[in-house]
Amino acid sequence: MPDVLQHVSDFPKTARLSERVHRILGMNPSPFTGPGTNTYLVGMNSRFPVLIDTGIGKPEWRELLEGHLAQCGSPRVTRCLMTHAHPDHIGGAGDLRKLFPQIEFYKYPWPEVDGGNGLEAAPISDGDVFWEGEDFMLKAVHSPGHAPDHICFHLVDAEEDALFTGDVVLGVGTTVIPRAGGDLAAYLDTLRRLLELNVKRIYPGHGPVIDNPREKIEFYLSHRLERERQILTELEGGRNTVVAIVKSIYREYPENLHAAAGQSVGAHLDKLENEGRVTRTQDDPPIFSLKT
Ligand SMILES: [Zn+2]
Repeated sequence: MPDVLQHVSDFPKTARLSERVHRILGMNPSPFTGPGTNTYLVGMNSRFPVLIDTGIGKPEWRELLEGHLAQCGSPRVTRCLMTHAHPDHIGGAGDLRKLFPQIEFYKYPWPEVDGGNGLEAAPISDGDVFWEGEDFMLKAVHSPGHAPDHICFHLVDAEEDALFTGDVVLGVGTTVIPRAGGDLAAYLDTLRRLLELNVKRIYPGHGPVIDNPREKIEFYLSHRLERERQILTELEGGRNTVVAIVKSIYREYPENLHAAAGQSVGAHLDKLENEGRVTRTQDDPPIFSLKT
């Protein structure tokens, strides 16, 4: 999270990242989205590329997409795969439908949220394969933790072995585990499973391409374990509310990031409580203590 503002001004709006994969920027920069949401056209050397994600719904994104497709011989996008239901990933779906009225959307179901956002999507299941041509495939990998409906897409072809990671692994900063729908233990499991895929490249939902996936995922895992150790130390030291723990651990960071940091600390405390290592009182805000 702390370095999300890097790369914002010089981040390209469109990029040809490989023969197969092009990137269109969602044009929604912020402290939480870095340069903005990345959307990806996959299979650009085929007649019917697939789109992954749609940004938050900025008109500039739709213009960039339209202009880029025109430059590339106007291939027709017939399918759009969503990594998850957060607004900065599905918000452009309506604009995309205006460009391609016949488009079909796909996402993993999240019953509590789906339907409230106006997106009609066919369900994705873990392991579903989206074929485009004879020589490559995109395989859905259910990857909960940041959101329960999160899907990564594994691209396997002769040239590249890559993973589209949405918000599970980012090119800038680290992933937020939100109070609504987040689950840190599930997230850590997801990271361990993604590590086993042994991909060569990651195309993240925010920030630049990651060409050292193993190091990046191992860093994410060790970062969380280190954070957990810090929180246990804070509890030992008598700081027993989320706010007190955030103020101590994140004292170097601007206060406008403390709310997001509070979500992260809360996610750790939820996990520790589920594991029977921490208890919480019914107070508002709750008081946490180590279980002895
Ligand atoms: Zn998200």
